[in-house]
Amino acid sequence: MLGGAGLGLTFSGHALAAGEIPKPANVLTPHEALERLKKGNERYVNGYAKRHDFIAEREALVGGQNPYAGILGCSDSRIAPEYAFDSGRGDLFVVRVAGNFTNEDAIASFEYTVKFLGTPLLVVLGHEKCGAVDATVKAVKDGAELPGHIPYLVKRIRPAVEASLGKSGNLLANSIHENVRLNVENLKNASPILTQYVAEKKLLIVGGIYELANGNIDWLE
Ligand SMILES: [Zn+2]
Repeated sequence: MLGGAGLGLTFSGHALAAGEIPKPANVLTPHEALERLKKGNERYVNGYAKRHDFIAEREALVGGQNPYAGILGCSDSRIAPEYAFDSGRGDLFVVRVAGNFTNEDAIASFEYTVKFLGTPLLVVLGHEKCGAVDATVKAVKDGAELPGHIPYLVKRIRPAVEASLGKSGNLLANSIHENVRLNVENLKNASPILTQYVAEKKLLIVGGIYELANGNIDWLE
């Protein structure tokens, strides 16, 4: 199992004593968790960050983890979730893949953090000018052929581009938006675990798009 297994915050269905939880401040409702991400992003946009005490944080996390949000982000080097949400270690459970799409590995990772680490919020985080989505637009529209394993990314992002063809506005921007929306839906429908937690209102799954110029996240709610 991954590091932190056995913490079992919600596994047995009862709250643990504060001393058993590495970061008690991370025990939040889904909407509180979203508010915390929004506040963190506001600090990042404004160019300042909370002071992080790395030593105390490291010690607190030796025994486990209870991240308050799971992030499905793009591999793009310009978007670093911990910076974008001004968060510390132990706060975010992050899966990154170029084009921020769901696959079985991503879903399994999020099932783990939701069921065993008590994470109340998942975010699909797309971003402007995504190269993986742009490559898919070129493959779909112009029949561009891509080398190696890159067609695998195209295959996963293609439904978002196809759904955006013929819509008014910019095809790349529309496809990025649709890709986030579709993958939020995929996570919500990833039965049995995620679907059940959403139905019980223990889990919120939302999407957002990171704006490159200012770092702001445009939330799709
Ligand atoms: Zn990208």
